[in-house]
Amino acid sequence: MNHILSVIVPTYNEADVIATFHQRITRVMQQLNCEYEIIYIDDGSEDETLFLLNQLREQDPCISIVDLSRNFGKEIAMSAGLDHCIGDAVIVIDADLQDPPELIPALIDEWKNGYDVVYAQRKKRHGETWLKTKSATLFYQLLWKISRVKIPKDTGDFRLLSRRAVDALKTLNEHHRYMKGLFAWIGYPQKAVMYDRDPRASGETKWSYWYLWNFAIEGITSFSDMPLKISTYIGTIAASGSFLYGIYMIIRTLIFDNPISGYPSIIVIILFLGGIQLISLGVIGEYLGRTYDESKRRTLYFTKGFHPSLVYKDKDKK
Ligand code: UDP
Ligand code: MG
Repeated sequence: MNHILSVIVPTYNEADVIATFHQRITRVMQQLNCEYEIIYIDDGSEDETLFLLNQLREQDPCISIVDLSRNFGKEIAMSAGLDHCIGDAVIVIDADLQDPPELIPALIDEWKNGYDVVYAQRKKRHGETWLKTKSATLFYQLLWKISRVKIPKDTGDFRLLSRRAVDALKTLNEHHRYMKGLFAWIGYPQKAVMYDRDPRASGETKWSYWYLWNFAIEGITSFSDMPLKISTYIGTIAASGSFLYGIYMIIRTLIFDNPISGYPSIIVIILFLGGIQLISLGVIGEYLGRTYDESKRRTLYFTKGFHPSLVYKDKDKK
């Protein structure tokens, strides 16, 4: 049976690498001897990316382009790709060559062995700062501990999905899409393939530390209600502590009378409780904000156009 493969590539301001990337991925795909399409999702790039993609498409009929109406972020760009692909197996890969296309045959082998989600797991991260590597490791460890869904450590979005995994993902229409978590959430047989992560080929990362921090909060709030529980527990502990201290004060006053003292302890307690209350409110706010966003049920994204590949058109005719 002849399979069709789809490769999904979210691109945002990748003009510097896009041609090199396309060359490299094409070399890999051609060796596979099967029909394939490469879907570039232009995530509202401000540079030449879209122009270059259109140029590439004139020479290569295997290219599809989904042109988003603005920058929606990588998670939504990936979802747009999943919505438009037709492959029996779908590969999600970054355009900056940090995910080596040469690993794709290994992913496909595991898919043929019956796995629905085959994710590439990093052995090493090249070309990233110590702080970024360290904070990423710590974050994934924390998420692993507090989340009900077991999100694999040291994996990016680079992975292969079977058709039924893609169809499952397409039914999830939440706005706060932490894709790494959703990939794990759908279940099905999953398998890791190890690889070395390369440094970015060119251009620079779009993720500042502030962005990563928010991404981390997204991951935690989407897949764990542990922070809510923690604030409840801290609140309970602080309240019981204050209660015991209150009893102690009453007894001490009854026995030793009340010399006017205790100003420092009162201030300490007030500040302590005030702090805890603000933190808890903040935590609740994070969840409430997300509930609010989801309750609007907005369309996930808009496209300016979809330019399908030849494979897609052929499939349509059948
Ligand atoms: N990307 C995107 N939309 C964005 C930011 C990034 O589609 O708003 C794409 C980007 O073009 C690349 C991939 O997502 O193909 C990963 O981005 P990046 O290399 O900046 O992330 P990092 O590798 O540092 O995690
Ligand atoms: Mg990158």
